[in-house]
Amino acid sequence: MASVMEAYERHINPAAARLFRLMGMGSTAVRAEGCYVYDEQGREYIDFLGNFGVLSLGHRHPRIIASVLEQLNGLAQTARFLLDKPAASLAEALAGITPGDLQYCFFCNSGAEAVEAAIKIARLATGKSGFIATINGFHGKTFGALSVSGREPFRAPFLPLLPRVIHVPFGDAAAFEKALGEDPDIAAFIVEPVQGEGGVNVPPRGYLKEVEALCRQAGVLLIADEVQTGLGRTGRLFACDEEGVVPDLLCLAKALGGGVMPIGAVVGRPAVWEALSDHPWLHTSTFGGNPLACAAALAAIEVTIEEDLMGHARQKGDWLLSRLKELASRHERVIADVRGRGLLIGMELTKEGAGGWIISRMVEERIIVGYTLNNPRVIRLEPPLNVPREALERVFAVLERAVREAEEFVEDL
Ligand code: PMP
Repeated sequence: MASVMEAYERHINPAAARLFRLMGMGSTAVRAEGCYVYDEQGREYIDFLGNFGVLSLGHRHPRIIASVLEQLNGLAQTARFLLDKPAASLAEALAGITPGDLQYCFFCNSGAEAVEAAIKIARLATGKSGFIATINGFHGKTFGALSVSGREPFRAPFLPLLPRVIHVPFGDAAAFEKALGEDPDIAAFIVEPVQGEGGVNVPPRGYLKEVEALCRQAGVLLIADEVQTGLGRTGRLFACDEEGVVPDLLCLAKALGGGVMPIGAVVGRPAVWEALSDHPWLHTSTFGGNPLACAAALAAIEVTIEEDLMGHARQKGDWLLSRLKELASRHERVIADVRGRGLLIGMELTKEGAGGWIISRMVEERIIVGYTLNNPRVIRLEPPLNVPREALERVFAVLERAVREAEEFVEDL
């Protein structure tokens, strides 16, 4: 084989490969454990992004590995027309831990697929075809999920998307109410309790509760996209729990697979699920709910609750957020804002140049963080919820130094 980078250039994603080369990122990951990743030269990296929220338990948590191995030695693939115990156990577990009367599950393989399923179920359940979604919201890149996403760079090349999707400002219940009044054909409102990809946007307290009430009043379903926030990330098992909100449909993926297997899920209330009862195979997925993914998810739920990873997220998130806020107050020319909930944290920079400087310093120090070019210029931090204190402190120290240097060396701030 040619080098890994050459294979990327020739066979996967030439544009991404060019960007990787430009930023001095070209090493290949060969091993990982907890919040640490190692490349082929044995160099250690701190993974402070965790594949955008997948690695709440860190890389290769031993309980997840053990659960998947045990399943692998029994039944690895579904035998259609016989029942699967891991899927049944997982559905029961999710019904037990999700808010209110959320009870039925559909399993798939990713976040976007969970959103696709929720869109279809909402249309069936209401007989309506429109959706309200939020500006800067992100729900995935398949056609339906992209249609409700509010991130223009990903949408623009594919217009026209699904018709009848209205995008409203996130965090503004009055704007949502106004949109509701303007279209009688709305099936559902889809929203992330905290926007992740859109730049870590935390809505004002009470927002979700208010939109829940408005949805109920209008007979419009509420779809909570907790693909990124679900399973402890924001300091609660589900971000909806923060305000006691019970959505009609809840989308999960990312951390559900325990950082080992891909899996997505939609959990729904009985009244909504009834719509699916006319045809048992109206919406299906070959690999969705496969025994290995379900075994990983069951163990992920157990570990999250037993190790109180929600508590970890709250406590470590508070520590990091307060340190970053203090840093921001000292460097207003570099940092425009710091925000987040639990261990979903964003640091918005004043200028592109500052972002470039800070990211290249992080790369040099072998710390993996998220960064979105263009607007919003936000560095995203999503470490494992069980991240050790020394890794937290090291990442903060490197960020602090990079911000200080950016203020000193970057012209045009
Ligand atoms: N919804 C949200 C809130 C997400 O953050 C993402 C992915 N970042 C998705 C949906 C799509 O998930 P996937 O990439 O697994 O399709």
